[in-house]
Amino acid sequence: MVLDAVVAGGGVVGAACALALAGEGLEVALVEAALAPSWTPTPPDLRVFAFAADNARLFEGLGVWQDIVSARAQPYRRMRVWDAAGGGELAFDADAYGRRELGWIVENTLLQDRLWAALPRAGVRLHCPARVEALEQDEAGVRLRLDDGGWLQARIAVAADGARSTLRELAGIGTASRDYGQRGVVGYVAGERPHEDTAWQRFLPGGPLAVLPFADGSCSIVWSLPADEAARVLALDDAAFGHELTRAFDRRLGAMTPVSPRAAFPLRRQLASDYAHGRVLVLGDAAHVVHPLAGQGVNLGLRDVAALAALVGDARSRGGDWASPARLRRWARTRRSEAAVAAHAFEAIHDVYTSDNVAAALLRGPLLGLAGRLPPVTHGLWRRASGL
Ligand SMILES: Cc1cc2nc3c(=O)[nH]c(=O)nc-3n(C[C@H](O)[C@H](O)[C@H](O)COP(=O)(O)OP(=O)(O)OC[C@H]3O[C@@H](n4cnc5c(N)ncnc54)[C@H](O)[C@@H]3O)c2cc1C
Repeated sequence: MVLDAVVAGGGVVGAACALALAGEGLEVALVEAALAPSWTPTPPDLRVFAFAADNARLFEGLGVWQDIVSARAQPYRRMRVWDAAGGGELAFDADAYGRRELGWIVENTLLQDRLWAALPRAGVRLHCPARVEALEQDEAGVRLRLDDGGWLQARIAVAADGARSTLRELAGIGTASRDYGQRGVVGYVAGERPHEDTAWQRFLPGGPLAVLPFADGSCSIVWSLPADEAARVLALDDAAFGHELTRAFDRRLGAMTPVSPRAAFPLRRQLASDYAHGRVLVLGDAAHVVHPLAGQGVNLGLRDVAALAALVGDARSRGGDWASPARLRRWARTRRSEAAVAAHAFEAIHDVYTSDNVAAALLRGPLLGLAGRLPPVTHGLWRRASGL
């Protein structure tokens, strides 16, 4: 049987892609290398996302958002950004946008779990655990060999198999990357004072510290640090870690106490040189890995999915070929350009705020102050980034 699409990778982006394409009436298979994800409330997943409003709407359309919100999603209603070196403070409030929240803080495994639960009722054929190992393609379609020896045939293949994507490599698509020499330290902490449904970010010379409100009253942190500093703070005992974090966060929520184990992940920018090669499309982390300072990693990936589903829906409603090379190329160009602009913008912010260079240091405070005094500009940018 020739399917319409095979999606490699059942992370949040790949699972959402399989569901969205099935929702447009396509015959879809999903291939995932790891065992099926399963969410449990405790312990909470260390990988959480600041989930944007447009992606909540995408998930509503997929029929999974209400279930996610009832399970555990913490709305954040305010955002505060400031620089340790002084200068202004950027403030965003949901009220100013006529909304109840700016977005939600949600765990990766919860999103994955609820997306996977919806796959069978959407008719997605699941191959799990299975890995994509080989690719053949011509003008009509693709053939993918899985590690169980079976083959899948489809009109298109979608690489959503993460930053070290096998399918992207098999398609011959290269990447350009920059290692920031930093790691993001993640974990949960309890503040002395309530988090006030606020997402906080403080820029420090070593990198930004984000403190995000979580549903049980604790906060999830992403602390970007030079790799050796990250290794040092990871090795601290809880009391010493809490003490350093409290200081780094300027005592904004009083004393901070760790309430979970900690982990760290490397920070880098990686952009695929193309998002389509013949009948193979690349999206999510397979296409772009960005600095976490704007919380956009998974949000960009889900926007790739929404754009692809819209392309299919639009082509089918006009009676056109949804998989025509011209349509696939248009999707690839648009998505690649949005991700490249975002990745380089986050990188510029990272460079200005971590540079030892005197000119950059002089720019920092005034930049935030200026942004704070230009509400129409910052609010326009924010509206775009947060999908409001
Ligand atoms: C600790 C941590 C914290 C993060 N925090 C944030 C944050 O706060 N905000 C944010 O927006 N982003 C964050 N990110 C980034 C975010 O996790 C990614 O942008 C997002 O998960 C990408 O989703 P994805 O589905 O594209 O890729 P992945 O989640 O990497 O999923 C890829 C899937 O493909 C599967 N796979 C791999 N190879 C194959 C193969 N050959 N065949 C079949 N399947 C395969 C893998 O098993 C995996 O399930 C964080 C990342 C980490 C590691």
